[in-house]
Amino acid sequence: MKRFRMRLTLIIILMIGLSVTAAGLMMGKTYKSNHISALEDSMVREMRIINSNTTWEFASQAEAESYFQAKAKELKDLTGARVTFIRKDGIVLGDSDHDPSTMDNHLGRTEVKQAEQNGTGRAIRHSDTISRNMLYVAMAVNKDNPHSDIIRLSYSLETVERNINRLWTVLIIGLLLLFLVAAAVSYRIAKGLTSPLEQITDAAKRIRSMDYSVRVDVHNKDEIGELGAAINSMAEGLQVQMNRIQQNETQLYSVLDNMTSGVVMIDPAGRMMLLNRRAEEVLGFEHREMVGRPYSEAKQQYELSQIIQQGLEKQEAVHEEITFYFPEERLLELNLVPVYQSDDSFGGLLLVLHDVSAIRRLERMRSEFVANVSHELKTPITAIKGFAETLLGGAVDDPVMSKQFMQIIYDESERLNRLIGDILELSKIESRRVPLQFSPIDLASFMERSMTILESEAARKSITMTLDNAPGIYLEADEDRLRQVVANLLQNGISYTPEGGKVSVRTSLVQGEGGSEMVQIRIVDTGIGIPRKDLPRIFERFYRVDKARSRVSGGTGLGLSIVKHLVELHHGSITVDSTVGVGTAFTIELPVIQP
Ligand code: ATP
Ligand code: MG
Repeated sequence: MKRFRMRLTLIIILMIGLSVTAAGLMMGKTYKSNHISALEDSMVREMRIINSNTTWEFASQAEAESYFQAKAKELKDLTGARVTFIRKDGIVLGDSDHDPSTMDNHLGRTEVKQAEQNGTGRAIRHSDTISRNMLYVAMAVNKDNPHSDIIRLSYSLETVERNINRLWTVLIIGLLLLFLVAAAVSYRIAKGLTSPLEQITDAAKRIRSMDYSVRVDVHNKDEIGELGAAINSMAEGLQVQMNRIQQNETQLYSVLDNMTSGVVMIDPAGRMMLLNRRAEEVLGFEHREMVGRPYSEAKQQYELSQIIQQGLEKQEAVHEEITFYFPEERLLELNLVPVYQSDDSFGGLLLVLHDVSAIRRLERMRSEFVANVSHELKTPITAIKGFAETLLGGAVDDPVMSKQFMQIIYDESERLNRLIGDILELSKIESRRVPLQFSPIDLASFMERSMTILESEAARKSITMTLDNAPGIYLEADEDRLRQVVANLLQNGISYTPEGGKVSVRTSLVQGEGGSEMVQIRIVDTGIGIPRKDLPRIFERFYRVDKARSRVSGGTGLGLSIVKHLVELHHGSITVDSTVGVGTAFTIELPVIQP
């Protein structure tokens, strides 16, 4: 833009300079010719006057020469011009500046020739004698007959030339001044023209580097103003559009990042162009590290790489479930679909990943549960049916046998009843249909009361129960549910401890995670213990370590699952520690205040 301004300035200066120079040349020329023709006119007039006072009739040549010589000198003094008298045959009769006898014949002189033809003649010649440009004007004495004697006047052109030179000096100085003024003016004009252009160029550059907040401050009413306005509205349009795009992008990313499915976009070259947070979690990548890198670079499951490779080659949808072992074992459902661009060309693959491990586990658990329930229900029903049939088949007539059988039928239906009750209870707790009624509980007296319920049962097996209560503990809990928890654990302790064993309970206050106060209840027995391999599973529904044995004890295997659920509803935790043949310890921790 600077260069454009310079060029514009130069062009303006050049144009002004050229026109001024041309005008100067014309002026000089006109001045010179006007001056010379004015001089010529006055010379002719002078010669006419000289002519009227001059006579050309002489008796002898010598007489004429002395007359003209004297006359020429006299006239030179009067007019300041060189005066020459020339006879019609070209012989110089008198000359103010030279001796006529030394002068050659003047018929050949241009001005003399012209005078002989037209009456007057002129010539400008360089005089070697005085080394100066001279103006010669000649006039025929007899104006009716040009072929007559001739008077010639000549002036030096020195003054004219000096004047012209002075004119030139003035002209050049003026020209220089004019140049300066023109330069300044044209610079201003150029600046006036180019500075809005410069602004516009600047704005365009900033728009190119994506700064859409730029505006041009040009208010000209001309094309440049229009250009500025166009640039402004373009920037505004781009800004609005950019904002919209950014907004869309933010929306898209927040949607993508908060999706529960993993989403990966792979371009036709196999690079991962987009990867949401869930996909990173599922595939075990660090945050954003894989964006823009080829999927093959990711240390991925071979199977997934194969599927992607195949998807890229065949460009067809793939739906599959594969197991991942890193960072942990999971079952992933993957949907791979080819994506096409607006011009129908292949734009890559969209990979959607769902972690279906939990769903599959739940499904398995549900079907296991149904199988378990059916199995558990079947056993008592088979017994009831069998004994009822035996009774119907005649055993009813034997009073001893029928009483025994009916007792079995009663026990089994009792067991069935309890089982169904437990199942209903568990499903209620699991589906959180039991709202807990929290109230402050005095732990010491609560534990005492809970233990009395089971005292008789313990006594029957000669099991000693001890309670070691930390004093003054209160906690917020649902009393009935908490009793259910404690009773279940005590019941287990009694059931799985041989005669003469011990069940001891201890309560205390401990610091939980995050520094909150927790109530700890430990129920320790000296029973048969639980094998290490069964420990992780005892909280599962229907899980019993020794099926035969707990059948005898009448257990359903639901007790500990109910306990675990209830403890969790209280925002607490339960852990177990056991050694086979030594005993088992259950530890419950509950928050003092419910969050
Ligand atoms: P339910 O309590 O429903 O009548 P259950 O006692 O068999 O039946 P859970 O209380 O859930 O069922 O216990 C699951 C299994 O854990 C038991 O069958 C038993 O094998 C084992 N178990 C539980 N508590 C103890 C314990 N204190 N000592 C040894 N084994 C135990
Ligand atoms: Mg139990």
